[in-house]
Amino acid sequence: MEHDCKFNTRLLHGETSKGYGQREILPPISQVSAFQYESMEELERVFTHKSMGYAYTRIGNPSVSAFEQKINELEGGAGAVCCSSGMSAITASLLAICESGDEIIAGTGLYGGTIDLLHDLEKLGIHTIFTKKLDKTSLTGLITDRTRVIFGELISNPSLIVMDVKEVSEAAHEAGIPVLIDSTTATPYMARPIELGADIVIHSTSKYINGGGNSIGGIIVDGGKFSWNFEKHTALKEFKKYGRMAFSVRLRTDIWENLGSCMAPMNAYLSYIGVETLGLRMEKICDNADALAKALDKEPDIEVNYLTLPGHPYHEYVDSQLGGHGGGILNFRAGSRERAFKIINSLKYAVIASNIGDLRTLVIHPASTLYLRSGREETEAAGVFDDTVRVSVGIEDKEDLINDFLSAVADSRI
Ligand SMILES: *Cc1c(COP(=O)(O)O)cnc(C)c1O
Repeated sequence: MEHDCKFNTRLLHGETSKGYGQREILPPISQVSAFQYESMEELERVFTHKSMGYAYTRIGNPSVSAFEQKINELEGGAGAVCCSSGMSAITASLLAICESGDEIIAGTGLYGGTIDLLHDLEKLGIHTIFTKKLDKTSLTGLITDRTRVIFGELISNPSLIVMDVKEVSEAAHEAGIPVLIDSTTATPYMARPIELGADIVIHSTSKYINGGGNSIGGIIVDGGKFSWNFEKHTALKEFKKYGRMAFSVRLRTDIWENLGSCMAPMNAYLSYIGVETLGLRMEKICDNADALAKALDKEPDIEVNYLTLPGHPYHEYVDSQLGGHGGGILNFRAGSRERAFKIINSLKYAVIASNIGDLRTLVIHPASTLYLRSGREETEAAGVFDDTVRVSVGIEDKEDLINDFLSAVADSRI
């Protein structure tokens, strides 16, 4: 897709923002369950895909389509499907590609819910091999004739391991395997994984895309470039005639539709409004996070993990893959669980909540919440220790944030 304007302009004036049915400036909220037709023949044509139209909101809805097209355009995809949550986007995409007996290769530093899901899939006969580092060397050793997909987070939450999308995609494609990326923390503002070589991108739109913390949602964007081998990817065999769009068609007309985890029209509307300010928010969030990380890093008894810090193991990717930004998540180790709690409890502005990507700065102790179901080894591989505090930086004034965190850290020594 050609773009002759920059990010923030494209957010408001892209191809998909060109006016709706009655010339509304935003897509109206089609808050209905079903759509009415003049004749049975007309509805039949919609059901048999002979004419375009909506029938039932679980299968399609104009407000949801508008949001799908907006994110699809931002990511440079060939088609997108909205889901009720980020977890349902991951579930639907993995189930569209894998069936019993198949294998997934995944990076370790994953979101807690995703780790739990991959364990749940074991009971369906879908096995996951976890690797500490998702790169060419590890893939070469791990890919088997049962491997069907490589799954990783572009910037893992909260461990901040960055996937080298180009390298991983090249290695996976050589073996005829697609790459599925959870780009929630990177956002389309920082990176466009499909352009870097990935095949499918998912987001929990609940986070930065919505940005206001007002609705749960997820989206799957298919790059439409992967050449499926239907002898290998037997889960998609029935959709062979759609070629490179087989994954999208299977999602849309089969697994996603039947799982029933559609996005609500109201949530699509709220997320549509939200994403229009993604550029402005991310600029501020990244600037605040960088300043806060550097201020906290000066404290002798606090170990800060943030991508723009000079010694960070993935620092080089800030410029090479993330548009010069470090993102909105930073975490630090406080020395003990007690001190971590003490710091969290005495923060004035940071809100204690289990979420990221809000306008407000949010904090949490992940080990006692998000990773309750994961084992110790897995939790630590995800960069979560007993003394880790995760911060999702908001858009407050950075001086206030820095003062708040530095006083909490100072008070915790008393
Ligand atoms: C929050 C999150 C998810 C899950 O999304 P929900 O919308 O909460 O279901 C998946 N991946 C990452 C990286 C997340 O931060």
